[in-house]
Amino acid sequence: MPCIYAVVNQKGGVGKTTTAINVAANLPDLGKSGLIVDMDPQGNTTSGFGIDKSRLAGSVYNVIIEAADVNAIIRPTGVPGLDILPSHRSLAGAEIELIGLPRRERRLVYALDMLRHDYDYVIIDCPPSLGLLTVNCLVAAEYMLIPIQCEYYALEGLGALTHTSQLIQRELNPRLKIGGIVLTLFDPRTTLAWQVAEQVRSQYPEETFRTIIPRNVRLSEAPSHGMPITQYDPASRGAVAYHELTKELISRGAAANHHELTKELIAR
Ligand code: ADP
Ligand code: MG
Repeated sequence: MPCIYAVVNQKGGVGKTTTAINVAANLPDLGKSGLIVDMDPQGNTTSGFGIDKSRLAGSVYNVIIEAADVNAIIRPTGVPGLDILPSHRSLAGAEIELIGLPRRERRLVYALDMLRHDYDYVIIDCPPSLGLLTVNCLVAAEYMLIPIQCEYYALEGLGALTHTSQLIQRELNPRLKIGGIVLTLFDPRTTLAWQVAEQVRSQYPEETFRTIIPRNVRLSEAPSHGMPITQYDPASRGAVAYHELTKELISRGAAANHHELTKELIAR
């Protein structure tokens, strides 16, 4: 069973796609295989790996709307050990089309259940909304990875996300939990960034990752070259930060599993 993370925050521009791409790209280096799922109709994750969306044989749209075989649509990325389930702009219509379909909240989880390859991790890049596409992501995931931009209103909207995830936990996916909050786009020269980081940490001491992702121009350039930061500029500050974050994520997961196991043993 893969460990499934949904990179989620209904605000746009907080670093979801950048985080999904660069955490996923670091997995093989750390001995883990991965699948990245692009659930955003904008397809920035897909193009971020240099994949031409107009030439795809199929996308996650065919999988969730037409129940196409997920194994036939997954393709390799330029990173050995990392595959992708690509997006397509047709996915924009899926938000409406899903409404009329049976088990409309579970289309993605059913598709991932059919995976033939045994990935260690599945990383899902969510769209910037709390609609049915995001609900599908949260029903399929075990962990939410929540990027928060170190700017004004950083925590605005977190209430709505928490509310949605609690509903999903109760009604559709009891396994769902916070895998971590990651501070992104951190600019150490501004007092505000430090204040926001401090505020998030004090409010979510357990959940917030120690690693902070700096604002780094190399991270914003990499997608236009169709490469994750691990390939575009592995020595950049952004690359080092995402490598550290991925290590932290993997070791936390191990700690969480250990915790679950301990609870199970005590319960016996
Ligand atoms: P989201 O998926 O939440 O909308 P993105 O990851 O697409 O956010 O990031 C929004 C924009 O900010 C993109 O142009 C991206 O390249 C840029 N960006 C994201 N993280 C960083 C960073 N740490 N440093 C510099 N630019 C970044
Ligand atoms: Mg995005």
